[in-house]
Amino acid sequence: TERTLSIIKPDATNRNLTGKINAKFEEAGLRIIAQKRIHLTKAQAGKFYEVHAERPFYDELCEFMASAPVVAQVLEGEGAIAKNREVMGATNPADAAAGTIRAEFAQSVGENSVHGSDAPETAAAEIAFFFSGLELV
Ligand code: ATP
Ligand code: MG
Repeated sequence: TERTLSIIKPDATNRNLTGKINAKFEEAGLRIIAQKRIHLTKAQAGKFYEVHAERPFYDELCEFMASAPVVAQVLEGEGAIAKNREVMGATNPADAAAGTIRAEFAQSVGENSVHGSDAPETAAAEIAFFFSGLELV
């Protein structure tokens, strides 16, 4: 079975939506096998989103991700990477399909409630960014 890295972002933790978002994952057959609440520094957020360093929204994104605690989690299941992105919905909530997390909870294209890895290589790197092997059972 596949694993992917999910982050419940500050806009969602601020509004106390962790449980509602986790219910969406579980209803989709994704198992939360590791989870922790952490407050990233801006430098840590910058490292995590390094691939977006040249994008115009990079600084705003890093500020936002460091603005309040996030919940980092590992989701496991058949085709977990694609399934998670399906449950998340499109990046911009205006384009997100009904019933998806972003359609229901996201506030804007930036404050869009969740992050999910987009490929097996990024999933492996992003899981290792937040969790040690001992934390993954
Ligand atoms: P994520 O990587 O967080 O799962 P994604 O893969 O749907 O989301 P990316 O294109 O990788 O989207 O962008 C990463 C994040 O950067 C988005 O989730 C969003 O928070 C932010 N972002 C993307 N585009 C914009 C934009 N035009 N303005 C502001 N923030 C943006
Ligand atoms: Mg992405």
